[in-house]
Amino acid sequence: MLNDIDRILITQEEIAARVRELGREITATYDQSDPNLTLVPILSGSVIFLADVMRQLPIRMKIGLVTVSSYQGATTEGVAPQMPTISDLDIAGQDVLVIDDILDTGRTLRLVTSRIRELQPRSVRTCVLLRKPSRAPSDFTADFIGFDVEDSFVVGYGLDYDGHYRNYPNIGVLRPELYES
Ligand code: 5GP
Ligand code: MG
Repeated sequence: MLNDIDRILITQEEIAARVRELGREITATYDQSDPNLTLVPILSGSVIFLADVMRQLPIRMKIGLVTVSSYQGATTEGVAPQMPTISDLDIAGQDVLVIDDILDTGRTLRLVTSRIRELQPRSVRTCVLLRKPSRAPSDFTADFIGFDVEDSFVVGYGLDYDGHYRNYPNIGVLRPELYES
């Protein structure tokens, strides 16, 4: 696995430090005296980020799971994200914080947040570990963003290439020959 990584963009130490800061930013945003927080991680890419960031939030909370997949297999071009199944989420009146690994074109988060709003939560915010500013739309962004990254296909810390590399602890770029074939 390590031989497949061309270069590291963000080290695990840098991620850990930024996740602690994000925890403070998020905690300060919510009313400590009236906590109603439900974290909604978009599976599977956000699992590691979720596990780390939620432990930086000393707030009463629940988790509700949503699965969306926009990349089919391997390619770097996204197809339209599938409709998420969110009907079982019990979030009416809750402060919802949607957690995703990366904001690329924004289609995934736009779709998920619009579906979540139909369930009448008290508030909806979004948190992503990464954003590709060169691709993100000008009229949609996340409320909390870990890092901006260049427009390369990145893996590690939960992000996969065809299901693999989620356990790579840094954020890295694959050797180009691995996905250009
Ligand atoms: P969007 O809907 O914003 O275009 O894409 C967001 C989703 O596409 C993310 O949740 C992630 O699953 C996937 N994605 C976008 N860019 C990358 C990337 O560079 N690497 C990986 N592994 N997934 C990506
Ligand atoms: Mg994803």
